[in-house]
Amino acid sequence: QEEQESFSFQAEVTQLLNLMANSLYSNKEIFLRELISNASDAIDRLRFERFSQQRAEENAEKPWIRVGFDADAKTITIADNGIGMGRDEVIENIGTIARSGTMEFLRGLTGDQRADANLIGQFGVGFYSAFVVAERVVLVTRRAGLDADQAVRWESDGAGEYSLSAAERDEPGTTIVLHLREGETDLLNSFRLRTIVQRYSDHVGVPILMPVEGSEGSEDESAVNEASALWRRPKSELVEKDYHDYYRHITGDFSEPLTHLHSKVEGRYDYTLLLFVPSNAPYDLWVRDARRKVRLHVQRVFIMDDDGQLMPDYLRFVSGIIDSSDLPLNVSREILQSSLAVEHIRSSATKKVLKLLKDLAEKEPEKYAGFWKEFGTVLKEGIADDYSNRQDVAELLRFTSTHSSTENADVSFRDYIGRMKDGQDTIYYLLAPSFAAATASPHLEAFRAKGVEVLLLGEAVDNWVVGGLMQEFDGHRLQSVAQGAPPDLGDTAEEKEGIEEAAEAHADLIAKVKELLDGKAWDVRVTNRLTTSPACIVAAEPDTDINLAQRMRGTGL
Ligand code: ADP
Ligand code: MG
Repeated sequence: QEEQESFSFQAEVTQLLNLMANSLYSNKEIFLRELISNASDAIDRLRFERFSQQRAEENAEKPWIRVGFDADAKTITIADNGIGMGRDEVIENIGTIARSGTMEFLRGLTGDQRADANLIGQFGVGFYSAFVVAERVVLVTRRAGLDADQAVRWESDGAGEYSLSAAERDEPGTTIVLHLREGETDLLNSFRLRTIVQRYSDHVGVPILMPVEGSEGSEDESAVNEASALWRRPKSELVEKDYHDYYRHITGDFSEPLTHLHSKVEGRYDYTLLLFVPSNAPYDLWVRDARRKVRLHVQRVFIMDDDGQLMPDYLRFVSGIIDSSDLPLNVSREILQSSLAVEHIRSSATKKVLKLLKDLAEKEPEKYAGFWKEFGTVLKEGIADDYSNRQDVAELLRFTSTHSSTENADVSFRDYIGRMKDGQDTIYYLLAPSFAAATASPHLEAFRAKGVEVLLLGEAVDNWVVGGLMQEFDGHRLQSVAQGAPPDLGDTAEEKEGIEEAAEAHADLIAKVKELLDGKAWDVRVTNRLTTSPACIVAAEPDTDINLAQRMRGTGL
């Protein structure tokens, strides 16, 4: 009898298992999608390891994933001939949740089953979804490169502990046996399983084999899925639904993508892009080191997840595939970092995504408004991070403004310029901690009186984006209304005279105030800024904008 060792799950895993068993009940089918996606990942990783270690010749065995069931034993089995796991890897990957976003995920659960199932897919806590239908899970795995008797058997009932023992497996890969719970036996049905596989896993690039129906007892099996590289198929052959299904397959996101781009580029470098913009921000949009959602393939073979070299940070919500024909299959991260092809692809993919967003803004402004709400804050980072595309990113920015009285950020620089007054050359903005504070600001009084629009910027990033980095847009200077010399609002000679007269009439008062504020204010003067408020504070031109200064103090900068 083999020696068996018991381990406890990390506390979070237990919590997750409980949640999953309860909240995923109406979406229990996704366990199959999750286990198949792991099998497919394992096959990709084995292929990559072999290429990168120049052991391609060992890859004689064709990759496969098998799904089967045993009605008598009440089990479903999912097996693959992928990379497998060594003992330490099993402990590391299956007993703990290493990723920093775990608590984020748990907090993100809404209690809405559909939304939660979606979240689970994106978060990739997929393996544990097995316990939604299984009361006991047995996993036997053999790491490629290790001997047949160095396989590992993992077993758990999902109640807080798991056990490990030594095992044997004829070839590298992983077999997972699910012992179904009472009441889940309707899954022990060939048609049902095929339907689930087709629904969720049609695009997996490896054949998913199942016994041919009616051939029980024989060895006949057939692939249930399409198993083709969708992005390599001509656009003309694909319909919207193909893209949606594929998007769901690679992201686990159940909602439809907002838009996508599919483009085959030929020239100095040949590559294919299939990129998606999601409708909703993924839960980990603000998680540092969240995993990237663009995958690099070389001649259809998965190579690796992007680690920031294919898509800039400010477009980190984009997911999809980049398939290059110019890179060697045994490409390493180091080679990628210095590859001209990668540099070229990144720059062109970035431009294409910005163009995609621009088109969306023009043709489907409502959709773009949804996009802006979800991703606008991230996109603003592009002003700082991507100097070469700054103009294009700036075209995509949207702000609240005094033009509309709503808090919706729907005004672009172009809209603003289109509404400029005769003779107005400057784009005016106000930085304020909130929309309410902005609209109540005395700095707006004169602008209101003259009907000159002011952009109201309320986000933390606006401080350094518009308040610092951007000096102008399309030749129009950006100017804070709370800073510098009085604005030129096209005052008439009469109005200007009025100001001078007021300055003379109140010369004593001004002198007195200056005296009182000595050392605290640079200057005290009568200006055209206000209509009803008696006074306001303005930052000197070369100084930091006063609202910016206040906010920086607030953030401890
Ligand atoms: P994710 O797939 O998002 O990483 P999962 O919970 O689905 O999360 O799987 C956890 C980890 O377990 C995987 O990252 C992988 O390292 C390992 N794993 C799961 N299934 C397999 C398998 N069939 N073959 C090899 N490794 C696997
Ligand atoms: Mg997974």
